[in-house]
Amino acid sequence: MPNNSMKRIRNAFGAVRLQPLENLLIGLMGLIVACGIYGGRDTYFDFATTPFYIAMLLMSVNLIPVNGVIATLLLSMLVLAAFFLSDYGSGRWELAMPFLRDFSLLAAIVVFALRGKRISDNLRQKEVCMSGAQRLSQTGCLGFCATLEKIGWSEQSAQIFEYPPSTPPTAAMILARTHPEDVQEVLAGFEKAKRREAIIEVSHRLLMPDGRVKHLRMAATLLFKRGNRPEYLGALMDVTAIKQAEAALSQARAQLAHVTRVTSLGELAASIAHEVNQPLAAITSSGEAGLNWLSQPTPDLLEVRKVIERIITSSNRAAEITLRVRSLSRKTDPLRRNESFNRIINETLLLVRHEVAHHGIRPEIELTVFDAPISADRVQLQQVIINLIINACQAMDDVNVSERKLLIRSWTNDEEVGLEVIDTGMGIPAHVLPKLFSPFFTTKEKGLGMGLSICRSIIDSHQGRIWASSIEGQGSSFQFALPLLTPVEEGYASAI
Ligand code: ADP
Repeated sequence: MPNNSMKRIRNAFGAVRLQPLENLLIGLMGLIVACGIYGGRDTYFDFATTPFYIAMLLMSVNLIPVNGVIATLLLSMLVLAAFFLSDYGSGRWELAMPFLRDFSLLAAIVVFALRGKRISDNLRQKEVCMSGAQRLSQTGCLGFCATLEKIGWSEQSAQIFEYPPSTPPTAAMILARTHPEDVQEVLAGFEKAKRREAIIEVSHRLLMPDGRVKHLRMAATLLFKRGNRPEYLGALMDVTAIKQAEAALSQARAQLAHVTRVTSLGELAASIAHEVNQPLAAITSSGEAGLNWLSQPTPDLLEVRKVIERIITSSNRAAEITLRVRSLSRKTDPLRRNESFNRIINETLLLVRHEVAHHGIRPEIELTVFDAPISADRVQLQQVIINLIINACQAMDDVNVSERKLLIRSWTNDEEVGLEVIDTGMGIPAHVLPKLFSPFFTTKEKGLGMGLSICRSIIDSHQGRIWASSIEGQGSSFQFALPLLTPVEEGYASAI
């Protein structure tokens, strides 16, 4: 890593700096060592000063850069050699061996000390990088024993909880910041630690003193046992930004789904008008018949009563249709309920049947699944079915009317219930199939290309699956499957 970048990282994340008191101590020790070298020497070459050289070199290893340490070593060797040579003049030959021994001792000590320095520098550099990575990824470390009596965390974890890094964390401090609605979640995590479960995962919110809410995800694993005391090591991630982005995305998706729903309602306008017109026409003719019965010389009240009942039935039907259209056009949040799959399909078919007829198509409908409970948002599911049927009708626009066939059939197995829409339209080329459900993919002149993409996100959010198959030139089949509610889930859903 270039030096400048390293410096920047050190500045940004705070390199290890000596405290003023440490500086003073080291200065004092340096003074003592210097006095030892100078004062410890007698008239002749004296090896009693060697430990002072060693001490000085070891201190320099920690205080100055490598080149400075090597220079200090060379200087020490030079001074040692000078003393020896000056004493050698007085004929003390017996000192030659100890001199060489101390000489090589100094060199060896410096080599080892420099190696140690390199290792500790590497460690420090890694620590700086790790704390930088923790800050950038909004992830902190934490460790705790199973009883939670001892908890430790990194500076980043302290920052996430917004406690001073110097304050040792406690379980009470964690609970104090936990959102009141998520306290049980955290306590359950504590219980897991007490039971010594291998992995603990907790997702919860923090409520800061100023009212801000943070979303956290914590995962810890049982690492090792020391003296039969299990310890956990884990990571703590601030996922607030991710949660906010997810919320914004799902809001945008809901808005888009609403827009396309209204667009397809526009396409169904003629069909809906026809659906409402039918009961209105029935009301008018029933009213006229009623007037006729009343204008008889002896009005037949029984017939009038029947006519009024027919009027009420027809107006209820018209009201039902407008209610369905209104719920489709209304912008509401997704609402999952315990629903009957069959009922949703039947209601939707009523809305599209005129549109299908308008394309010159007489659909074959095989609804063989009756009591299939599912957990679904009715309006969203209707949107999927309408989209698949309108697409099928449009795909057959270029096909002879006599060859247009639309089959709508439901199916079920032990776990799922599904709907298949088969058409005899132009089909889909093999290379197009993988792109069908991508946003904005369209082959239509006035297409938006969002219909199938929204269908997929709706079905995905229902934990279902949607797929298409086709033989080019012969037609296509679009299917989706949703998980069936188990009797237990069904009971639970209806109880809440
Ligand atoms: P749009 O209808 O606005 O084009 P969709 O997402 O509903 O958007 O459809 C995307 C594309 O998928 C269509 O443009 C068409 O090419 C293809 N497609 C969808 N349904 C069928 C079908 N039943 N037969 C052939 N192609 C189809």
